[in-house]
Amino acid sequence: MGRLAVGIAVGVAVATCAVAGVVVGRRLRSRRKWRRVVGVLRELEDSCETPVGRLKQVVDAMAVEMHAGLASEGGSKLKMLLTFVDRLPTGSEIGTYYALDLGGTNFRVLRVQLGGTRSSILSKDVKRQRIPEHLMTSTSEDLFDFITSKLKQFVEQEETVSEAAQSRTRELGFTFSFPVKQISIRSGFLIRWNKGFAIEDMIGCEIVERLQGALMKKGLDMWATVLVNDTVGILALGHYYDADTVAAVKIGTGTNACYMERADAIIKCQGLLTSSGGMVVNMEWGNFWSSHLPRTTYDIDMDLESPNPNDQGFEKMISGMYLGDIVRRVILRMCEESDIFGPVSSKLLTPFVLEMPLMAAMHEDESPDLKEVAAILRETLEIQGVPLKARRLVVKVCDVVTRRAARLAAAGIVGILKKIGRDGTGGITGSRSRSDAKMRRTVVAVEGSLYTSYMMFREYLHEALNEILGEEVAQHVVLRTTEDGSCVGAALLAALHSSSSSSSSSDGLHRRQ
Ligand code: ADP
Ligand code: MG
Repeated sequence: MGRLAVGIAVGVAVATCAVAGVVVGRRLRSRRKWRRVVGVLRELEDSCETPVGRLKQVVDAMAVEMHAGLASEGGSKLKMLLTFVDRLPTGSEIGTYYALDLGGTNFRVLRVQLGGTRSSILSKDVKRQRIPEHLMTSTSEDLFDFITSKLKQFVEQEETVSEAAQSRTRELGFTFSFPVKQISIRSGFLIRWNKGFAIEDMIGCEIVERLQGALMKKGLDMWATVLVNDTVGILALGHYYDADTVAAVKIGTGTNACYMERADAIIKCQGLLTSSGGMVVNMEWGNFWSSHLPRTTYDIDMDLESPNPNDQGFEKMISGMYLGDIVRRVILRMCEESDIFGPVSSKLLTPFVLEMPLMAAMHEDESPDLKEVAAILRETLEIQGVPLKARRLVVKVCDVVTRRAARLAAAGIVGILKKIGRDGTGGITGSRSRSDAKMRRTVVAVEGSLYTSYMMFREYLHEALNEILGEEVAQHVVLRTTEDGSCVGAALLAALHSSSSSSSSSDGLHRRQ
C-alpha cells in the first residue's frame, strides 16, 4: 500500500472517530437532559405521595379542625358555618316550588313539582343564564334587577303549573354560594364576595331582604322561604332520595362540604335548640389546612401568586380551578430543564391557561400515540413536536396531580365521617374499638364535574376511601351522585319550610333563653 493510501485510511478513521464522538456526545447530553426531566417527575411523585398512613393523618386533622371550628368562632381555618337547616326533606313534600341559584358566573332558575313520596319529582324545569360580566362588579340593585327579571320571564312562560299552585304565593329557595353569616334559615349577611364578584354595596347586607325587595319591585308574588349554599342543597336532595344521607361534597371549580351535626356539638352556639336536635353545618372545607397535606413547590408558588395567598389551601390541591395550573407549572419546569419540549412558549408562562377539562383529556388519552396530548400541548400550550416519550411524561404528571387530589378529597370525606362517628372507629375520641362500633349504612351525596365527569379522579377517590376505611367498613359507605342539587335541594327545603306545609316549624328553631 502506498503512503497516500495509508494517509487516506488514517484520515477516514480519524474523521469517523470524530463523527462518532460528536454523536456519542450529543447522545450523552440528551440522555442527561432526559434524566433531568425524569428527575422533575420523580421529585413531583415524591412530594405528592399519599400513602394510607398520611391520609389517615389528614383524616384526623380534618376531624380535629372541625371540632375546633365548632368550639369557637375563628377557632380553626374551617369556618363551620351554621345554616339553620335543622331538618332535611323526607319525601313527603308536595306541590310546586321554585329556586334561584346564584353562585358563580351562571345562575339558574328552577321549578319542581313534588309528588309527596320519596324521590317523586314529577317535573323539573331549569333555565341557566350567564350573568353579564359588568353586573358582577356593578350595584346590588342592578344584579337583583337582572336576576328577578329573568325569574319573571321564567314564571310568565310556565304553562304546566296547576291553577291551585298559581292561586297562592309562589315559594322560593335561594341558593347563594358565597360566604354568608346566617342568622336564621331565611336570613344571612354577606361576609365577602369571591369568584369574580365585587359589588361593594352588598357587603355586610342582609341578602334575602334585597331579593325580596327586588321581587316586589317586579310585581312578583313570590316569597323566599330559605337561604342556603350549594352544598346544603346537595345534601337536601341526597336526603330526599335516601334517608341515610349525612353529608354532601362538591368538587367542581371549587370545593366545599356540609353535613348534619348534633346541635349540642356546636359548642360556639351554646343553647342552640333545634326541632330535630341537629343542624347542617357548612364547613367551607376548601380552607382546610394541615401540615400533613403533601405540598410541593408548585403549590407554594401558585398560592403566592394567587389573589388569596394562605387561603383555600385544601381547595387549591383538589379542585378544578387549580389542578391544570399545577400541571402547567410542572411542564414549565421540565421545559426549563431540557429542550426536549422545545423553547418555553409564552402560553406556557400564562397562568391558568391549561384548564381542567383539557388536563383530564390528556390524562385519559387512550390513543397509542397520545394524539390528544400532542394536540393539547400544541394548541393550548404552543409546544410543538413533543416526542412520544415526553408526552408519556405529561400524562404521568396529570396522573400524579389528580391522584393526590382525589385521595385527599377521600381523606376529607372520611374526616367528616370520623367526626360524626361513622368511620367505624368510634369517632373522634376513638372510645370504641373498631370491632364493637356497629357501622350503619352511610350515604354521602357528591356533585361537581371532577367527580361526575372525570373517571380517573372518581376511581382514585373510591380506591383511597376503601384503603382508609378498610373493605369491611367501606362497604357501608355509599357515595351517591346527585344532579342539580344546589337548586333542586333549595326548592325541596323551600317546600319543607313552606308556610302552607303543616310540618313547617320556622319557630321550631331557637336559642334557649
Ligand atoms: P361549578 O363551576 O359550580 O363548580 P361544576 O361542578 O360543573 O360546576 O364544575 C365545573 C368545573 O369542573 C370546571 O371549572 C372545571 O374545572 C371542571 N371540569 C369540567 N369538565 C370537566 C371534565 N370533563 N373533567 C374534569 N374536570 C372538569
Ligand atoms: Mg356552583
